[in-house]
Amino acid sequence: MPGTRELAFKGIGVSPGVVSGLVLILQGGEEPLPEYAIPADDVPREMIRLEAALIETRRQLNDIQQRVRTALGGENAGIFDSHLQVVDDPVFLDEVYRDIREKNRNIEKALTEVAERYAQTLQQMEDDYLRERATDIRDVTRRILRNLMGGGKDWFAGIDSPRIVVAHDIPPSDMAALDQHKILGVATELGSPTSHAAIMARAMNLPAIVGLHGICQQLHDGDRVILDGVRGDLVVNPTSDLETEYRRVARTRARIRKRLETLINEPAVTLDGHAIELAANIEMPADVKAAQARGARGIGLFRSEYLYLAHDGAPDEEMQYNAYAEVARKIHPDPVIIRTLDLGGDKLLATDRWTEEANPFLGWRAIRLCLGQPLLFKVQLRAILRASAHNPQLRIMYPMISSADEVDQANTLLRDCMDELDEAGKAFNREIEVGVMIEIPSAALTAELIAPKVRFFSIGTNDLVQYTLAVDRGNERVAHLYEPTHPAVLHLIQQTVQAGRRQGIWTGVCGEMAANPLLVPLLIGLGVEELSISPGAIPMVKDVIRHIDFTKAQELARTALTLPGGADVLERCRTLVSRVAPEILELAE
Ligand code: PEP
Ligand code: MG
Repeated sequence: MPGTRELAFKGIGVSPGVVSGLVLILQGGEEPLPEYAIPADDVPREMIRLEAALIETRRQLNDIQQRVRTALGGENAGIFDSHLQVVDDPVFLDEVYRDIREKNRNIEKALTEVAERYAQTLQQMEDDYLRERATDIRDVTRRILRNLMGGGKDWFAGIDSPRIVVAHDIPPSDMAALDQHKILGVATELGSPTSHAAIMARAMNLPAIVGLHGICQQLHDGDRVILDGVRGDLVVNPTSDLETEYRRVARTRARIRKRLETLINEPAVTLDGHAIELAANIEMPADVKAAQARGARGIGLFRSEYLYLAHDGAPDEEMQYNAYAEVARKIHPDPVIIRTLDLGGDKLLATDRWTEEANPFLGWRAIRLCLGQPLLFKVQLRAILRASAHNPQLRIMYPMISSADEVDQANTLLRDCMDELDEAGKAFNREIEVGVMIEIPSAALTAELIAPKVRFFSIGTNDLVQYTLAVDRGNERVAHLYEPTHPAVLHLIQQTVQAGRRQGIWTGVCGEMAANPLLVPLLIGLGVEELSISPGAIPMVKDVIRHIDFTKAQELARTALTLPGGADVLERCRTLVSRVAPEILELAE
């Protein structure tokens, strides 16, 4: 029975929006697992049952993937590739078959035990990516079991109004299969801002909170709650005063977003006329549409490794050329920066997943991997060069550069590719601009030496912060130490900008720091000329730019560089933005 006392829970807001409504708990409703012995003669029949369930599971996953690709774009649909790999994994399936044969027991029991053994092993891995695969195995196994046992439960049977869905965790395939019209918001016990459920919720525009430990025990179906996906607040049995207050907050945010929509075609220019290039970060060619709809002027970061991850291997030159050319054409006449392969760290191909490195973020990643495998790298360089024939503003950017020497090596391979294309009579832009990401402190400190070899710098603050402060960007235990406003980070940004300027090249920022509206004046004041961010953040960031004076932003940056700590800097940034664009704080905090 729902209680009546007001109770508040705090999690991590991962998808913005405020909703109030009734809870539907997705938990504990699975059928009990059947367990029985089977005579040896029945083993083949048991195998056939499994085959049939696998065929149906494959069909469902392909179907969901297709729907997600159409609705949400390629990046989100890529999640299901790892699910399909589980269904086709010969080692995993062989073990299930062996278990049935040797232990003479039913397929449901054998499958569950083998899958759980795999999942447990993966869960203990250091690597985030491998730990996520444990979730995939459990998710797919649940789906196969449901198909073996005659279909799943219809969570919404008998429910006629949309609900706030509460669960321990929502596997991505379940999330995609949920009828969006029946859900108001999502709250889960597990998850982080980069977990699959959070990514899907953002893409589906559903307000969401993760990390609400033990919430399933505390709530009941039918409880009335308010969910705030910005602040991470979940309030059960809210008083009518609180409901009124949240309704006001929701109305205010909706009004602000509506106003921001009117800025789509407006320039990103400060009050005193200083123009900023506002571009978008994308993962797949399909994302260009969302970027343009939000008013992006160009693509400042195309994370090309997602082509490899979606393909689970190196796509050939033709396939890559088609993808890059599609983006080049769609965004023309605006610029597009294609970042060369940044695999490694937490982004691994299936074939590399078992290549253990003690410290993958300090290991064989990005440009190191490419320079170590020049043939693989040259396939990509040729594809990018050929795509440059479709847009004179198509640029190349090398990730994880740590020294000028690496730029020389990459440029030598690029020139070889130009010669090869000349010989083959294939068109490309010989004047193509080459830039580098500044995301390792050694690159920032030697920016002066790197600048003469390139045409632009793009600061990857996601990595620059982690490497400068020695704080793993994905580890929630040290998240409080991950401070983009730390003086060390600010000095490295300033140094990079100034070194670039002395050599006549521009500097942008393409890390998440640029999407934080509070920090935008600081970056602009430090002399950053381009901001490249996820499409959803463009309207907010543009609004801040249009409300500040460049001279005030420069003053802020000068002061920030003298302050002793990141918290002081953040406070100054908040004070400035709350004075010039107070509405934006309603959306950001
Ligand atoms: C960065 O490091 O800031 C960046 C933009 O690259 P990625 O997040 O892909 O590492
Ligand atoms: Mg990076």
